Amino acid sequence: MPFENPGKFLETLLDALPFGIVALDHAGLVQLWSFGAQRILGWTEEEAIGRPLPLDIRLPDRNHEDAEIHVLGREGRAIDLDLRTAHWEKGRILILTDVSQRVSAEREMQGLRERELTARTQMHAERRFRELLEAAPDGIIEVDREGHILTLNMVTEKMFGYRREELLGQPVELLVPEDVRRQHAGHRAGYWSHPVTRPMGSGLALYGRRKNGSSFPVEISLSPVISDDGFRVTAIIRDITERKQSEERLQALQKQYTSELELRNREIEQANRLKSEFLANMSHELRTPLHTVIGFAELLAEETKGPLNPSQKRFIDHIHKDAQHLLALINEILDLSKIEAGRVQLQREALDIGAVLEDVLSSIGSQGAAKSIGIETNIPAPLSVNGDHMRVKQILYNLLSNAVKFTPEGGRVLVEIIGVDGFAQVSVSDTGIGIPAAEHNSIFDKFHQVGATTIGMGEGTGLGLPITKRLVEEHGGRIWLISEPGKGSRFTFTLPLVAK
Ligand code: ADP
Repeated sequence: MPFENPGKFLETLLDALPFGIVALDHAGLVQLWSFGAQRILGWTEEEAIGRPLPLDIRLPDRNHEDAEIHVLGREGRAIDLDLRTAHWEKGRILILTDVSQRVSAEREMQGLRERELTARTQMHAERRFRELLEAAPDGIIEVDREGHILTLNMVTEKMFGYRREELLGQPVELLVPEDVRRQHAGHRAGYWSHPVTRPMGSGLALYGRRKNGSSFPVEISLSPVISDDGFRVTAIIRDITERKQSEERLQALQKQYTSELELRNREIEQANRLKSEFLANMSHELRTPLHTVIGFAELLAEETKGPLNPSQKRFIDHIHKDAQHLLALINEILDLSKIEAGRVQLQREALDIGAVLEDVLSSIGSQGAAKSIGIETNIPAPLSVNGDHMRVKQILYNLLSNAVKFTPEGGRVLVEIIGVDGFAQVSVSDTGIGIPAAEHNSIFDKFHQVGATTIGMGEGTGLGLPITKRLVEEHGGRIWLISEPGKGSRFTFTLPLVAK
């Protein structure tokens, strides 16, 4: 060792180092506080020795590792430290380097960069704003508290016929028709005391004024804007001249249509009334002579005025049969047109459907018997329907007479009546010629007869089923059929049961 006093040498060396050295014992009390430590942290050796470390820090777990920490030195001075630790036999040694200058330079750089970024973002935002302003299909202006125009877009220039310079800084009343300018200024003052966002068109009918003095209808929406340099209002102005015009055109068209429609309706009503009158007249004019024809044919057939030869008898028989057919046809046409005109009032009452059926069977039984067709019924329980006696009879008569008519000799007809969900369900089945599936819907149309199948089956009118369907539906029921050519048909209809 070249030194006489190594302790002194080390002490001198320690104090000359640019960093602070602090030694702590196991209890954490300061045993060594170099001059460097005093210089960096402020506390003198006398103030530090024998006390706990005056810094509020957590020592790193591992030694010989750099840790950058921020501490408060004496009198609260902020210091950035580079801290390294090492072990010694009685505890830990801390090596402290003051990096405050470097850290604050770094911070300053960072701040500078952030400010630059903000400025750039702002510039970008402003440019975007300008672009949006110009891209908007509406006129946009910004007005300050006193009503001076601060910003405007190109649409505004075009809409009002001014150049930008002519408007900037001018009172917004320049864009308002003269007769409402004073009113507008008052409204504007009122708006400041209660600034709310007001949507387009929520106000009254508003007008703008062009530089040439002409005015045009506008829709305006207002929104208050609070910015750093005060309070402003953004107004979005839409020229609604075209819309107004098309609205007016539409209204005129609508009016025209309505009056035309009314005229048509009146014409239709008139035609309907004429049709009803015509039919009522027909009924009288056609039926009266027909009754005469039938009556005289019957008189002749009785031979009270002298005997007829066989040919004459045949002729009279033809006259009688065809006249009867014509009468039936006229009656059914009248009936259907009355139902269709809604002029049939059902006289509803509680009807024992079984009893009505018996009634119908007694008049149709002979037709069946003539063709050796047995008519059976199956009614497990008596049912009371809410119906018009005459019309329910008519429904049953139509279906049963069809069943007999379209069933060859020796066939069978069956009537079944059951109750289903508040309805009486009546089915009339036969073992007759049947109906092809393609005809199942059209069979309920007026004058529809199934082509070849009816030939030789006696004359019909093609109105029985349409009338039957209308009558069933008038009662609130439904009618449908299941049928196959050669196998027979099954017509089913429903009538509401009397509520218990
Ligand atoms: P009409 O019986 O007077 O011709 P409808 O309207 O009662 O008129 O019937 C229309 C057509 O439906 C009949 O011409 C016939 O072709 C067919 N049709 C009706 N009922 C039956 C049935 N039970 N079996 C076979 N065909 C039928």
